[in-house]
Amino acid sequence: MLPCCRVQVVQSNRRRPVRKVHSDPVFHTPHRQAEVASGRFVQRYYDPGIGRFLSTDPVTAYEKPMTNFNRYVYALNNPYRFTDPDGREFESINPANNQKLEGYINSQAAGEFKFNDSNKLERVGDGNGSGSQTYNDSLVQGIASDKTTLIAIQPTVGNVNVADRGNGLTGQVGDKIAVVINDQSLNTVDAAGAPLVDSPATILEHEIAGHAVPQMMGQPNANAVGIDNQIRSELRTPQIPADPTHKAYDPP
Ligand SMILES: [Zn+2]
Repeated sequence: MLPCCRVQVVQSNRRRPVRKVHSDPVFHTPHRQAEVASGRFVQRYYDPGIGRFLSTDPVTAYEKPMTNFNRYVYALNNPYRFTDPDGREFESINPANNQKLEGYINSQAAGEFKFNDSNKLERVGDGNGSGSQTYNDSLVQGIASDKTTLIAIQPTVGNVNVADRGNGLTGQVGDKIAVVINDQSLNTVDAAGAPLVDSPATILEHEIAGHAVPQMMGQPNANAVGIDNQIRSELRTPQIPADPTHKAYDPP
């Protein structure tokens, strides 16, 4: 399992805490969204203290893979609902979340994406919308790859609290990649008591474009933060601090 992204909170030097970030010991902190939107930028700041609970234990996580997915893995053997002849796509494991996931993706990607009746993501339209072209291209690449990424919204994965991982993580279930985000605690606090404020759409983007797709494309050493920042630049949202060590795949 990839330790990947932890969304952290960074204390703002004014008013309330602003954005968070993720990733192993990475601290993010950009400018406030509203200020960026209005063309004003505030200084960057970050609280190194948040690093203390960021330390991950990838080995432990790896050895206890997403057990909550087990039932689904078994269900994969059911050709009735989970036909996956070529293993090419992103697949939502819970149809009840399809619309929410589509909303997250479509709010940031230039293309419009939709889950089909088999819960597989497809792009609809020409992909020339106002969102990030890089994110659009990433999704298209993933769909065209020979790998499958499962996408889930849930608070825990086995004994791992997704909130403690920055509300997003990318791991593996068998030969499939799995992206899990938690949108239930985004407005609460993390294990250190710091508010979690990143949007689920941003977290999902980071997990998909920064971690899952590079793995699907056989590029495990791709820099997840670099990809994320490219997308953020296209969306004109705050950058997160560069971290060359934040790879698409962090081997256990
Ligand atoms: Zn990450």
